[in-house]
Amino acid sequence: MNPTKQHIASDNYSGICPSALEYLHRANDSGHDLPYGEDIWTAKASDKIREIFEKDDAEVFFVFNGTAANSLALASLCQSYHSVIAAETAHIETDECGAPEFFSNGSKILLAPSVNGKLSPAGIETLVTKRSDIHYPHPKVASVTQATELGTVYTADELKEVCSTAKKHKLKVHMDGSRFSNAVASTGLSPADLTWRCGVDVLCFGGAKNGMPLGEAVVFFQKELAEDFAYRCKQAGQLASKMRFISAPWLGILESGVWLENAKHANRQAEKLEAMLKKIPGITIMFPRQANSVFVQMPEPALQKLKDAGWRFYTFIGVGGARFMCPWDCSDQIINALAADIKNAIEG
Ligand SMILES: *Cc1c(COP(=O)(O)O)cnc(C)c1O
Repeated sequence: MNPTKQHIASDNYSGICPSALEYLHRANDSGHDLPYGEDIWTAKASDKIREIFEKDDAEVFFVFNGTAANSLALASLCQSYHSVIAAETAHIETDECGAPEFFSNGSKILLAPSVNGKLSPAGIETLVTKRSDIHYPHPKVASVTQATELGTVYTADELKEVCSTAKKHKLKVHMDGSRFSNAVASTGLSPADLTWRCGVDVLCFGGAKNGMPLGEAVVFFQKELAEDFAYRCKQAGQLASKMRFISAPWLGILESGVWLENAKHANRQAEKLEAMLKKIPGITIMFPRQANSVFVQMPEPALQKLKDAGWRFYTFIGVGGARFMCPWDCSDQIINALAADIKNAIEG
């Protein structure tokens, strides 16, 4: 039984972290302000993102969620007859209900086989060079997820290789950074070293899973790629009129450094959970654990026992198995209780 008030099925079951909440209140207490992102909080949060990424001319936009961030970013890089190359496990393919295709008016996602959730240079190469005729949806973007859907993290060298292969074929590079903070925490590298310095053109920087109430930042590292992006957001219903209530909490987690602290904590808890689960015979850890999730294979009856005991977890993500995802405020109590119940489920 889960004796806590937390969940470990996904990091979006979590609440709002104190710094985000504090700035939400500050923005509210400071009185009225301009709508549609013309306010002081949005300006400051955008500046802070430029500072953290060491990129003065980056363009920043705040949208409500990750599906919109990814879809609109991809749509801005593609014409309808273009295609986006992604790993077969990519969220844009499996969990966005066709939104990238919808918002781009038909740009097709081409899937590359992946190992541990990563898009490989060879995967890009194969799909780009497979055909060059008029009948094939012309590849225009390579999309990577950092950290990946399987809880692994690209090294800077891996990203550089992906990006240079993409650039060789004139593709832009999009990064789904729903858990970008966890990747920064995991690698110890700077945000710049994990993005534009490798060749990433646009990052969808995740907030919700990092302790924000909601809201993701779309960061274009090349100004010209952001042309007309504001219109795209508006048309898609993603331009918040009271934008400051998305951007102020962003400023809160960025100014305090909590965005990274939260991610470090989540990763650490997953590391502890992994260590406990590794000791249980009959359990297989499925992928190298590099961020805040642990994927395990265990006998079907044990999975059922865990479900009967009230644990929530997903088994449809990636390539099967049970995924346990540590949130920013993940307690020791929940991982201890989960590990104990898994042990019982397998042994009993
Ligand atoms: C959670 C998540 C998103 C964002 O999903 P929304 O529910 O639309 O906010 C995007 N990519 C990945 C890999 C995710 O895990």
